[in-house]
Amino acid sequence: MPIKNLQKNSKKILVAGAAGFVGSHLCDFLIARGDYVIGIDNLSTGSKKNIAHLLRHPRFKFAKDDVARREGFKTLPYRGNIDEIYHLASPASPAYYQQNPINTWKANTIGTLNLLQLEKKYRAKFLFASTSEVYGDPLQHPQTESYFGNVNPVGIRSCYDESKRAGESLCMDYYRQFNSQIKIVRIFNTYGPRMDKNDGRVVSNFITQALANEPITIYGTGRQTRSFQYVDDLIGGLIKMMASPKSFVGPVNIGNPGEFTVLELAKKIIKFTGSKSSIIYKPLPQDDPNQRKPDIALAKQVLNWQSKINLEVGLKSTIEYFKRNA
Ligand code: NAD
Ligand code: UDP
Repeated sequence: MPIKNLQKNSKKILVAGAAGFVGSHLCDFLIARGDYVIGIDNLSTGSKKNIAHLLRHPRFKFAKDDVARREGFKTLPYRGNIDEIYHLASPASPAYYQQNPINTWKANTIGTLNLLQLEKKYRAKFLFASTSEVYGDPLQHPQTESYFGNVNPVGIRSCYDESKRAGESLCMDYYRQFNSQIKIVRIFNTYGPRMDKNDGRVVSNFITQALANEPITIYGTGRQTRSFQYVDDLIGGLIKMMASPKSFVGPVNIGNPGEFTVLELAKKIIKFTGSKSSIIYKPLPQDDPNQRKPDIALAKQVLNWQSKINLEVGLKSTIEYFKRNA
């Protein structure tokens, strides 16, 4: 398929998971920068609504496809060279990735292999969206990239944690065996506009509940911690990682080191929404990590990146989005 309206220095970039929460923001950034973007997504947890504004853009092409299909990407809406591949195609919320754990495995293993084959064919740069979940329920705090993690290999979260670990491992083998240009990013909890309100993650659940003045559901005591990163900070980190020298493979943590208990998060959301919601307590799911906070020294040093948007600013912007899209 010929490329139309391609600016002189624009790159051809494949985004797998383009219709998801993070993927759609990444596509927006790349299109605004002047790149040509090929988005693929099986729309299992994402939605065409997230990219509706891009579908008629001359530098954006979209195909509904599954990265784990054995046949590869027969419907890829493009036949030229590809410069960069972002592999974001995987369910991310515990509720969704546990709904069909085998598909979660496939997206991060067979899907990663299929995309790595494309990377090899085009000699493209390849960024794998890994996760802080590779640290499991961490015994080291905060988590540095050198920490090997504490993952239950047979628990209900392992379809995600272990398949992401397997994905990282495949990337490293392509790097060692084929000299592939690999970039591994370990993303910590990210929130912002276009999160699916039904995906069960804590920020979307609490905002939805608060806006409806319904009880806020805290799992466990609410003393477990997370570090919440606004999506714009993450996109900046992904872009900087992709642009980093070939010698920098990662893995690198991209997250906001501000650490909050789930109870603190609930109270902030009640305050910022002016909600009348009460707080109720529900059982803690199996293997729910007790604490999580990124050490981002490596990202600061090599990528000159750090998160800039604090929780208050990010939550207020996300609340506005949920109000508009209620
Ligand atoms: P999301 O569910 O909103 O987006 C994932 C997208 O991938 C969806 O559009 C979904 O339909 C698509 N997808 C899933 N399986 C697919 C498959 N087999 N083939 C093609 N498309 C498929 O989730 P998100 O929050 O945008 O996460 C994006 C990526 O970032 C994921 O790889 C996730 O593991 C990673 N990540 C996200 C977070 C976070 O807090 N948001 C944290 C750590 C890692
Ligand atoms: N959580 C909660 N109530 C909810 C949803 C989640 O208390 O309605 C808790 C969950 O048990 C976990 C934390 O919030 O301790 C973050 O959950 P999320 O699913 O957003 O991300 P993850 O567990 O993958 O970090």
